[in-house]
Amino acid sequence: MSATDSYGFTTTILHSDRQKAIEHGSVHKPIHSSVLFGYPDARDLAAVFQGKQSGYRYGRQGNPTVSALEEKITKMEGGQATIAFATGMAAIGAVFQALLRAGDHVVSSAFLFGNTNSLWQTASSQGVDLTLVDATDVANVAAALTPATRIVFVETVANPGTQIADLKRIGALCRERGILFVVDNTMTSPYLFRPKAVGAGLVMNSLTKYIAGHGNVLGGALTDTGEFDWAGYPNIADNFRKQAAVQQGMSQVRAKALRDFGASLSPEAAHQIAVGAETIALRMERASANAMALAQMLAADPRVAVVHYPGLPSHPQHVLAKELFRTFGALFSFELKPEIDCFDYLNRLKLAINATHLGDTRTLVIPVSHTIFFEMGAARRAEMGLADSLIRVSAGIEDTDDIVTDFKAALNF
Ligand SMILES: *Cc1c(COP(=O)(O)O)cnc(C)c1O
Repeated sequence: MSATDSYGFTTTILHSDRQKAIEHGSVHKPIHSSVLFGYPDARDLAAVFQGKQSGYRYGRQGNPTVSALEEKITKMEGGQATIAFATGMAAIGAVFQALLRAGDHVVSSAFLFGNTNSLWQTASSQGVDLTLVDATDVANVAAALTPATRIVFVETVANPGTQIADLKRIGALCRERGILFVVDNTMTSPYLFRPKAVGAGLVMNSLTKYIAGHGNVLGGALTDTGEFDWAGYPNIADNFRKQAAVQQGMSQVRAKALRDFGASLSPEAAHQIAVGAETIALRMERASANAMALAQMLAADPRVAVVHYPGLPSHPQHVLAKELFRTFGALFSFELKPEIDCFDYLNRLKLAINATHLGDTRTLVIPVSHTIFFEMGAARRAEMGLADSLIRVSAGIEDTDDIVTDFKAALNF
């Protein structure tokens, strides 16, 4: 147990690096750019390779600057270990690469980030059986389980429709059935929600989004919460079985996904992400307040057809969001009435930027069906309930009056 266990979220992040000695009293973990790590005694090098001694070997598999970030994410999630990757997709891909085999079955929420949807299609073309369900109701997940189900995968708040998975009940179901529950926490971030609280075994975060927060660096992470018993997971190779059960899952992910596929986070990127992470609480509070102000203004306007935001009492999972999340988040989507063209509306916005990405300090807008969800085709979009005119908004941290005025002025043309 560390001395800071009683500190709050931000204090813990700010002082995480300093809990270990840092060269020259530096308050940031330095950027260690060395790819190789030399040992004066060759026996120590051998001991590190054999796992008898801790230490670094080669930059693809681990780096001190990246480790410091991993420790920070572990603390943010209240977990027991984290592995960082070059991107969020590499972190989700690692679940497939390291933990699934042909013939395994995955139950995933149907309301998915577009590239995750594409990744699961790839997995299914390589022999993993996939069932996509409406995960807002645990009954749909329960009905899809088979004896071969290894993983249940959900996002906390789906993008762009903001559906919230039935997180507590799915967690309880997975625990009862001994199934690994994997939660993509990108949209909530560990500041709003810790999936460990509902029994998730692995938590994925795209560090690119709220954690780094400034749209200037890519990264991803998988955190083992300690909630899942790896001793009962069928796909652990014999050499990892020799380790303590708590280590088996992450050891296999580090070797079979990070090492063998090589999507490693660079130490420079890890440093940038660590600096961004220092202010996540402040940014999430402001961005959530801006999202709420925008969603309320738009919902009250007769020219707006519908607003999807968990903070509005009309949202189907408003009560659940209130119970589980610290704020209602910074992402929402809306449809204008048919007489207003969504492209014309977007072009009248002066502050909000037409761009893909979310979790930035600046407010971003995108017509999703014509862009990020275009490739999947009209049929799958219809299944996901994505209207052609749907606009997704990632609220930034601008002064609230300025951003609300921008969205209101664009309605008054
Ligand atoms: C962005 C995002 C990802 C992928 O993260 P990258 O860092 O862009 O690879 C995965 N899941 C969700 C919910 C995301 O928003």
